[in-house]
Amino acid sequence: MPLSTDVNLPREHVVRFPQRCVRCNADNEGRLIRLWTHTIGWWTWVFWMFGRPFSVRVPACSPCSRVIRCQRLGGLAITIGVTIVFLYFGWPWLDDFVARPIRKWVAMLAVILCLMPCFLWELFLPPAIDITAYSDNVDYEFRDPDYALEFAILNRDAEWVKVDDTPDIGD
Ligand SMILES: [Zn+2]
Repeated sequence: MPLSTDVNLPREHVVRFPQRCVRCNADNEGRLIRLWTHTIGWWTWVFWMFGRPFSVRVPACSPCSRVIRCQRLGGLAITIGVTIVFLYFGWPWLDDFVARPIRKWVAMLAVILCLMPCFLWELFLPPAIDITAYSDNVDYEFRDPDYALEFAILNRDAEWVKVDDTPDIGD
């Protein structure tokens, strides 16, 4: 099952990537693509807000850079699109049945349910690379397990390296 291989490192650790394209393994000719994300934590679920931004530069050849950028923008557009469509067309049908104090929570839950197909799609057909930033650590999620393992080994000087939640890969 092609789930992603996740490497968890301290947020402050300056990461090193294998010197080849993260998506097709070809020579990236020194090209890097910057990926941005926002920190998530308990406040994301309580206040529906994101924390400070995090970015990392990842080796990618020029055609793959375009694909990665399109996929990320596409994913964002779908998330925003589904949310807007639901709030405009779906929510008015539900609004009358939901008590006022829990309205916000029910709306959030409904949006998450609407986005579930996208989450499942990403889970089973993961992008070449994705990042999830938390307040003191970052998950680097790779589709290619070999690339992920090489990445983990290159960064073994970090305070910790966890591969798929298994601590300390050792030398
Ligand atoms: Zn490539």
